[in-house]
Amino acid sequence: MILVIPQEFIIRLHNIAEEMLPNEAAVLLFGVVIGNRVIVQSLETVQNVSSNPRTSFRIDPEEEYRHLIEAEERGEALIAIYHSHPAPPRPSFKDLQFMRLNPVIWLIASKVSGDWTSRAYVLKNDEAQVVRVEIVERHDCEERTT
Ligand SMILES: [Zn+2]
Repeated sequence: MILVIPQEFIIRLHNIAEEMLPNEAAVLLFGVVIGNRVIVQSLETVQNVSSNPRTSFRIDPEEEYRHLIEAEERGEALIAIYHSHPAPPRPSFKDLQFMRLNPVIWLIASKVSGDWTSRAYVLKNDEAQVVRVEIVERHDCEERTT
């Protein structure tokens, strides 16, 4: 499995993480799956409604549902959930629990090393496995999916 994401989306995701500081940011990633390629086509920033937004995130189910319906109308599905961490970009214990409920790719950003960096994970046999991320030019991504 490879997460294919346009460069401009990575930049946007990291900008959103910076803007949301000191809270964790949350973004839904929509797109299509072609073979083992999970291709990101659109992003929807959502509110972090956690009662401890600095160290965890929670997405309002109604807001998520609204975006799911809109994505479906565009022929897209929820393929990944992005959030930022005050800690290293590894799934927390709570993340692992939510990964079970939301079996999509989890993209986690952190800037503990200075600049924002993201890592992708998927839950396999109850363990978080790293997913390869391929950063592409926007037009590249569209060519593959149309
Ligand atoms: Zn987390």
